Amino acid sequence: MFRSVGFGLWLVLMVADAIHAEDAVVENVVFAIHGGIGLDKAEMTPEIDKRVRAELEQALRAGFAALNKPNAVGLDAVEAAIRLMEDSPQFNAGRGAVFTHDGRNELDASIMEGKTFKAGSVAGVTTVKNPITAARAVMEKSKHVLLVSRGAEAFAAEKGLEIVDPKYFRTEERWQQLQKQLDEEKKRGQGLRVESQETAVVPQRHLTGFSFGTVGAVALDKAGNLSAGTSTGGMSNKRWGRVGDSPIIGAGTYADNEACAVSATGHGEYFIRYSVAHDIVALMKYKGLTVNAAADEVIRKKLKMAGGEGGVICLDHKGRFYPSYNTEGMYRGCITYDGQVQVRIFEN
Ligand code: ASP
Repeated sequence: MFRSVGFGLWLVLMVADAIHAEDAVVENVVFAIHGGIGLDKAEMTPEIDKRVRAELEQALRAGFAALNKPNAVGLDAVEAAIRLMEDSPQFNAGRGAVFTHDGRNELDASIMEGKTFKAGSVAGVTTVKNPITAARAVMEKSKHVLLVSRGAEAFAAEKGLEIVDPKYFRTEERWQQLQKQLDEEKKRGQGLRVESQETAVVPQRHLTGFSFGTVGAVALDKAGNLSAGTSTGGMSNKRWGRVGDSPIIGAGTYADNEACAVSATGHGEYFIRYSVAHDIVALMKYKGLTVNAAADEVIRKKLKMAGGEGGVICLDHKGRFYPSYNTEGMYRGCITYDGQVQVRIFEN
């Protein structure tokens, strides 16, 4: 008796889950972005809600405008929108990035083109104003894929990109966020003790009151090509040159014209270990899953079971947009070919 009630309940939940997944697919999308996993519902205020939505809409429109310029490629839209969010002190990318344990802002970014499988990334940069532009320069102007730290900074300077004093990235709010974490660590007596991979870095969304997160974008251009990009300051209080998933092709970013474009946000250690972005593409390509089924399989099943918090935005080659996350919400938005904007946080 209990067994069949239990089974019935399970069935209802599974069906509800499937409906939720199908409901959230948006058709005819050409460009979409995310601004990280952000706050829990209880922490959200009408003022923050308004600010997030306005910033996301502005970035969406910037990407859309770039996409509609003559001869534009999807990478132009990805770069334009992410640059805007890097320049905004609200996001954990570029100016407004979180701080490392040592009080520095170390930035990571990547970009990928789904037609050619070309990709570029930078990690741990402290002087490049727009890391997404540096990532694109690595892809288009070097024979490498991933450049780190001083070398990446020297490359960016050599290619004429804008270089700034590391202080440019500092915001008081992120600094206070670090101080709070250091205090908490001291109280718990953790200091330099090495923890396990699961607990080494606390996802920064639990520690911030007002700022949004990592940023990312996916585009489908007029030639039918997909592209994706992601930019972040990583996780607050990160140590020892820690690099997350955002600059790792296949983990935080991936694009394949035959499947979809993916940009991720969340606890990077898990996204690297589970090759999240590429896993979604592989499920579509080799198993024939739809974009929503593939994304949910990885984010809401595999990753959730492993304890990895986060989400992805995905855009397939038919213009079907799907965000999947295992947190309460994810800041995200999309725009259709005729300019209809949709911005969401907690709702499907
Ligand atoms: N995924 C990023 C990282 O681990 C952080 C985030 O998305 O909030 O570096």
